[in-house]
Amino acid sequence: MRVMKFGGSSVGTPGRIKHVMGIIADARKRHRNIVAVFSAFEGITDQIIGTSRVAARGDRKYLAGLGAIKKRHREALADLVPARRRGRIEAFARERFADLSDVLHGVFYTKELTNRTLDYVMSFGEILSSSIIAEALQAKGIPCEFLDSRHLIKADDRFGNGRVKYDLTYRNIRAYFRKHHGLQIACGFIASTTDNDTVTLGRGGSDFSASLYGAALNAREIEIWTDVDGVMTADPRKVEKAFSIPRMTFEEAMEMSHFGAKVIHPPTMQPALDRNIPLRIKNTFHPEFPGTLIGRRDTSGTFSIKGISSIDEISLLRVQGSGMVGIAGIGRRIFSALATQEINVLMVTQASSEYSLCLAVLPQFAQAAKHLIEEELRYEMRDRQIDGVLIEPNLSAVAIVGENMRKTTGISGKLFQALGKNGINVVAIAQGSSELNISTVVAKADEAKALNTLHDAFFLSGTKSLHLFIVGTGLIGGTLLKQIAQQRHVLLHSQFLDVRVRAIANSRTMLFDGTGSFLRDWREKFSAGGTAMDLDDFVRRMKALNLPNSVFVDCTASDLLVTKYAEILESSISIVTPNKKANAGKYGLYQKLHRASLKHDVRFLYETNVGAGLPIINTINDLVAGGDRIERIDGVLSGTLSYLFNSFAGGRSFSDIVWEAKERGYTEPDPRDDLNGLDVGRKLLILAREAGHPLEFRNISVKSLIPPALLRAPSINQFLKQLRSVDDTYARARDKAAAEGKVLRYVASFAGGKAEVSLQRVGPEHPCYALSGSEIIIALTTTNCKDHPIVIKGPGAGADVTATGVFADIIRIAHHQS
Ligand code: ADP
Ligand code: ASP
Ligand code: MG
Repeated sequence: MRVMKFGGSSVGTPGRIKHVMGIIADARKRHRNIVAVFSAFEGITDQIIGTSRVAARGDRKYLAGLGAIKKRHREALADLVPARRRGRIEAFARERFADLSDVLHGVFYTKELTNRTLDYVMSFGEILSSSIIAEALQAKGIPCEFLDSRHLIKADDRFGNGRVKYDLTYRNIRAYFRKHHGLQIACGFIASTTDNDTVTLGRGGSDFSASLYGAALNAREIEIWTDVDGVMTADPRKVEKAFSIPRMTFEEAMEMSHFGAKVIHPPTMQPALDRNIPLRIKNTFHPEFPGTLIGRRDTSGTFSIKGISSIDEISLLRVQGSGMVGIAGIGRRIFSALATQEINVLMVTQASSEYSLCLAVLPQFAQAAKHLIEEELRYEMRDRQIDGVLIEPNLSAVAIVGENMRKTTGISGKLFQALGKNGINVVAIAQGSSELNISTVVAKADEAKALNTLHDAFFLSGTKSLHLFIVGTGLIGGTLLKQIAQQRHVLLHSQFLDVRVRAIANSRTMLFDGTGSFLRDWREKFSAGGTAMDLDDFVRRMKALNLPNSVFVDCTASDLLVTKYAEILESSISIVTPNKKANAGKYGLYQKLHRASLKHDVRFLYETNVGAGLPIINTINDLVAGGDRIERIDGVLSGTLSYLFNSFAGGRSFSDIVWEAKERGYTEPDPRDDLNGLDVGRKLLILAREAGHPLEFRNISVKSLIPPALLRAPSINQFLKQLRSVDDTYARARDKAAAEGKVLRYVASFAGGKAEVSLQRVGPEHPCYALSGSEIIIALTTTNCKDHPIVIKGPGAGADVTATGVFADIIRIAHHQS
């Protein structure tokens, strides 16, 4: 005997039903006796409930809902059963529609919708789907019988959630199957009371019906056919990377489903477990895939946990008071009070101080639960032993589940570390003594983030996702995107790092991509699908996505973006940027951003602020962290200015060299932005700050390379012409230096708390003497390296090296995060 259950999603359209008929036809080749249990067509149960509620409001619009329900079934029938064979089923459906319309008419007039009536109207969904499918199978030459499960499955009269009378049900099923063989098409979800009233087994209950048939008939296996590849490590609608679990135990499946994994209805496991009949969850749309086998034992144990599930919305009830310690049996009294109204408690936590007790319930029961508890504890409240019951709304419960947890240490540590590193606050926790489940309560807005974070931490053998939000698509941003596209694959396989670009923006356009798959084709996607850039909106959307390991990458030189940095860091989003504006601004801002990154356990990285990709800032940070002191900093910090003075030899004039450098694109569009020395001053300021000195920009003495009059020249061209006026001065300075065996260098130096940027003559003993091209250099004299400063030298400008440096900072964040 084989039991197969097909859920609503498998029978959503006539096309899908034909596909299911193929699966059944195939199974008949292997099994003589089959019970196929069917749910209502996808969405029909919801539609019936919705229509009934409209009728109960006395609103005539229910007729439209009723019309739509009839139409859907008529169309399925017409598609699945050839006209010449339709008579019988059409008559049957007509009668059901007439019944349904009579009952809804009554609901409309009386404006009353009891659970009993609702169960009755809901049953039409399953009755119609199963009878139409039975007819369609027969029409295809597959002999079968339609079986109204209400004749066999008996339950009590708790309408909406009937409790099954197992013995009676099993006896009925066995008696029926002694006389009926072959293929039986049974409706799921519905049963009847001893008075023969229709009662349902709870939403999603067709799975349970199948399990009852399987247990009664001692089936070899119970197959639950749905629209996913089995029970997955997490709800695939919320965790994109969820994958199918090959095997799990009944207990694990029960925990997962109790905690929100809708793929299988919680009570389904019990009958199967009692008779030790394996359950197999299969995908109707991928029938060759083995799916998930749920059985008594599972020794595979590849991962430390089996799955992660969540309940979207819960409320927490907090009972607290200084006198609670002394109250006898408080837990028992609270639970008994809640049980009188059948309020289910999803989780409980109590601090060992017994000062407070927290209970999680579904939000719709929160008010009632509060009243019941306050009523039960009214004398304790009068005597001030208890303050009262507080409701905390808008929360979600997220649980990790698995038998292996029992044997493995460090699971809860990993859980908290992963959540903490991503700024997810844990409101309450509970671990069942079975150690099968660790549950946490988090803000509802953090639910998806928590699920994804935990999924990465527990299942992807250390694979981390990094979600990038890149602003700036110019030279550096564009190069960075190119490098990401090139390196993505390598990072995934060698460093288990999954880099996703979630959004791209420049000053005009922005574009978010749900899958984070901007790659080489980003330019086309960006120009075709973008919307007008709005920084506030960009930041709001980035925050709302609330993805773990999010990084905001600012590849601009904008002041505006900097105003958002604090808010971004406070939202647990890291920042990587070559933009110097924040770190060279007011010291207060510098400090605020660093504190925010520490407080929210995210990173603010800007290695490329000085010396492009060269490891300057990291070296200073490492030295300082190791207890060393930076005593001096000397260096040539601008690649452009390095180039100018390295080329300023022989008979060439200074202004010629500036012209040439500009022509080659080595300078800023207006070379004065290099020659005024301010950029070098900002870099020195940042380095001094990194070395631990709270300087402001005004504390840096910057000697411009050109006089103020030239700085004020009305245009770039006029400036370049006027630049000839300094040629003589520079020629003299060069000759003087040469006479002493020295060269001219624009040196930034910081020593004894004083910072200065100026043109200097340096001899061969000076670290800045031997430079070529646009090399930059920095020498760090520290307490531990007094005689031989640490020297870092290399290309200090260029889109490629800068983008590489930005990329390196991004990767560093992955290693910091869980
Ligand atoms: P059916 O119509 O077959 O009864 P359901 O919609 O009741 O199907 O259940 C299947 C759905 O359950 C899936 O489409 C998926 O979105 C959801 N789901 C939630 N958690 C999980 C999980 N851990 N594994 C698989 N599916 C899950
Ligand atoms: N049709 C019912 C529901 O939607 C039962 C089921 O699908 O299992 O809840
Ligand atoms: Mg279901």
